[in-house]
Amino acid sequence: MVRGISLLSGGLDSMLAICLLREQGIEMEGVVFKSPFFGTKSAEKAAAQLNVKLHVIDFSDDILALVRKPPHGFGGAMNPCIDCHAAMIRRAGEFMRAGGYAFVATGEVLNQRPMSQNRRSLETVAETSGLKGLLLRPLSAQLLDPTTPELDGRIDRARLGAISGRNRQPQMELVKRYGLTDYPSPAGGCLLTEKGFCRKLKDLFDHTDGIPPVADVELLKFSRQFRLPAGGRIIVGRNRMDNVALKALLKEGRTILHTVNIPGPTAAVLGEITETDLQTAAAIIADYGDKGSLTAIVVRIVTPQGSREITVKPLQRCDYQPWML
Ligand code: SF4
Repeated sequence: MVRGISLLSGGLDSMLAICLLREQGIEMEGVVFKSPFFGTKSAEKAAAQLNVKLHVIDFSDDILALVRKPPHGFGGAMNPCIDCHAAMIRRAGEFMRAGGYAFVATGEVLNQRPMSQNRRSLETVAETSGLKGLLLRPLSAQLLDPTTPELDGRIDRARLGAISGRNRQPQMELVKRYGLTDYPSPAGGCLLTEKGFCRKLKDLFDHTDGIPPVADVELLKFSRQFRLPAGGRIIVGRNRMDNVALKALLKEGRTILHTVNIPGPTAAVLGEITETDLQTAAAIIADYGDKGSLTAIVVRIVTPQGSREITVKPLQRCDYQPWML
């Protein structure tokens, strides 16, 4: 029995690649990568629908290193797609060898994306990942050079696809053939392509020597963040759920601020902060609070070592808006 491993993002093409191979009796399993920028939900859903075993590879260190220094640069935001894709294929190749699988498959379609999926790019990825001859694109296989398992007859090339370009009609026919009912749209889902998120990410990288810890990157998902004038960074909760989550960061050794004499948001401090920035942070949450005409707001500063209260005058929105990331 031939066993293969396929990159399963959860997108339709990655599902169809598995269906095409299974149709000729090949035993397929999926791999998906997780990091602070993309998760495994769609892949898990797809794997459940296809009833394939899914292996999750932690890709956090790989992708953070690439965001720090992408050999082939970034796409439209902070997405190092060329290097990210090659690194994923390389990791899948390691997984293939360790698990004794015969090849790695992907759902890539020739010429679907003019830059990253033209013939030359597909060949370059196969070569640079060290998987030449073992990297199969089942949806377009008949239009590409045959891989080793096709050449030695373990895979019947005639039963693979010859799809090229952006027209999705051939995929829709396969959807019918395999009875797929639930699949996500081809859109991304990678935070590295979102400009708003990348503003915060760039700030974090600019203020970190080397590679920031995964926990700090995860915290960028809170939307309201500020870089204060003396260099401190705070997150200010937007709603009750945020406030509860930010309070819980005290257990991780972070400093927390919250208003005492009025209802208001919680803030968490990320990294080092000066006393001046702490006072500024307190004045910001004082302004976000339900202060009415009060001008003296009591804010509690809580650290794992203890707490103290300070009284501040709320800052005006126009004064701190420029510090928002
Ligand atoms: S969109 Fe994100 S996950 Fe996809 S290749 Fe680019 S950086 Fe990697």
